[in-house]
Parts: sequence; C-alpha cells; structure tokens
Amino acid sequence: MHNRAMPPLMFGMKVYLPDDDPRSMPARMRGLGVTTVFCGDEYGPKLPAFREACARAGLQFYLIATVFRDPKALAADPTLLSLGSAGGVSRWRDSEFYQLVCPARDDYLDRRIEKTHLDIEFLRPDGLSLDFIRYYVRREQTVPDHPPEAIEKFCFCDHCLAIMRALPAFAFPHAARDRRAKAAWVLESRREEWTAWRCGIIARAVSRLAGAARSVAPNIGLAIHGVPWTSEEYDGARRVVAGQDIGMLAPLVDFFHPMCYFHMMRRRPEWTHDIAVDYARSAGRPVLPCVQVNPFFRKGPIAPATFRRHVEAALKPPSPGINVWEWALLKDDPAKVDVLKSEFERAAASA
Ligand SMILES: [Zn+2]
Repeated sequence: MHNRAMPPLMFGMKVYLPDDDPRSMPARMRGLGVTTVFCGDEYGPKLPAFREACARAGLQFYLIATVFRDPKALAADPTLLSLGSAGGVSRWRDSEFYQLVCPARDDYLDRRIEKTHLDIEFLRPDGLSLDFIRYYVRREQTVPDHPPEAIEKFCFCDHCLAIMRALPAFAFPHAARDRRAKAAWVLESRREEWTAWRCGIIARAVSRLAGAARSVAPNIGLAIHGVPWTSEEYDGARRVVAGQDIGMLAPLVDFFHPMCYFHMMRRRPEWTHDIAVDYARSAGRPVLPCVQVNPFFRKGPIAPATFRRHVEAALKPPSPGINVWEWALLKDDPAKVDVLKSEFERAAASA
C-alpha cells in the first residue's frame, strides 16, 4: 500500500456537526483509542480549529467530501438533479439534505473539485474520504428482500440522454419517444453497456478528485464511502444502481469504507463482516467497515451487547480497522463508549 497516512490499525471516528467543543473533543477521542478523525466538509467555521486540535492530540485527520450531495448547488441550479427510470428525481421526499447532483454534470464536478482542492490546501488533511460518490439510491430504505427491479435507476436527465445519443451503444429506437420509454429500452436491451458507462463516470470523478488532492499533497490518503451491498446483491445493484465498480475504483484509492449501518438497513449486527469480506475480494484493498452506534432513520434501541457484536464483526480479519458513525450519536452514551474502548484495546493487543 502506497499510503503512508494509514496506520496499521485504524480506529476512525466520524464527525459531522460542530455540536461539541472542537478543542476538547480530540483528547476525549484519543483517550477512547481513536487514531483517525473523519470530518465532514460542512462542519462549519470551527473546522480549522478542530483540525488543529486533532493534530495537537496526535489524531490523523481525514476530510470527508460529500461529492454529489450538494444542497446549495441544487438550490441554485435545479437542473443538476438526476432523473430516474420511473419518473423520480434524485431527492428523498422533500429532504433538502438528501438530494444528489447528476454525476455526469462536468460543469458541477469542476466546481466541486476546485472546492476540494482549496480545502486541502487550507486544511492540509492527512486524507480525503469521498462520500456520495455514486448515483442516487435511497439505500438506507432498501430492505433485505427489496425486489431489485423495484429500485429506481438513475440517471436519465436531459444531459445524460444527450450524451447517450452521441454514443454508438445507445441508438434509441423511434418507438422510445419519451424519457421513461428510453430508460425502459436501455434497461431492457443495453443494461451492461449503460452500467459500464456510468461506472466509468464515477471512476473518472474519483480519478479527477484524487489527482487534485495528490497535486497538493502527494502522500494524502484516499478513501471511498461504499454502498453496503455485496457484488451480487439486488442483481448487481452496487454497479447497476450505485455505479460503484469496486474493482475499477480500487487502483485509484487506498482503502474503502462500506457504510454498514446494520440497524437502519434491518440486518444482523454481524452482517458487517459479510460486506467487508465481499469488498476485500472485489477491491484487493483494505476495507474498514463503518459501524452504526445508535438508531437513525428507524426507531431503536441498539443494546450495548448488540453493538459489541457489530463492532467485533467489523474488526474480524481481514479488516484493518473500523470507522465509527458517528461522534454525535456516541458522545453521550457511556455504555457504547465502553464497548468501543474495550474492543479497540482488544484489537490493538491482538494485532
Ligand atoms: Zn444525468
């Protein structure tokens, strides 16, 4: 692995909200055994102070870039929204937070890369973790027995249809007049060509972002937030729906963290390990599963003993660590803090 920024065992902690003292929390995390903070780029004005405090506490600092999730850009230009095969848009109900830009919009991506470039110059993080680097899907609400054909596929916006029209693989038949008819024809008769094309768009976005980051900091660590599905699940939806071809992305980054939020996704706590194994097989790269501390999007509870099984599974070989989602859900829960502390100690002792 060429990434010098990754310790042999990485205990990550995700932080998104400035709802805690940015100067004192790094020391508390360090005391718990955390090695690396993953901080969202929307943290706000206290981000530089937090980044500095992490360095002082001896914590690595990874910046999370939410690549295609950008409410401000979408408010300014609603044509950036993706359009789906069944007439949907890339927004969860009326959520401002959960809406995604069409990944084929290079005009948007150029601006996003410029912002990330400036963030890296200013904050000098040890690593960059790319989140929402995929096509739209509400994977949090995709239950285990969800029929694959019922998952809407994106993107069939005017911009994407114009690109497709210029590609030999997508000579739309005359009968496919409107958006839905074109989408139905593509999914019926050009499914693999369309999937490969979209996976290429995601890979190119990763490659451009990685290039921009490494042009500022050649040894910066690069990670991808992955959709927590195995390669076969929902008829290959990781590629077909999300556009994430893990084998194609692997050479571009140092490691992956699939977001194994077992509770909201109605899985067993140990399921985390199945996803990590599948990712490791596809990626040939280290895989650090993200674990869920407390309920979100779905009512609880998550008992401390259940959380321990979840963390234990996430730390099973070949996993070189975990990434905990997230500080805001953990900091006021001493039982879960104890679970993490003891599991980190156990993993470090047996490493
Ligand atoms: Zn599009």
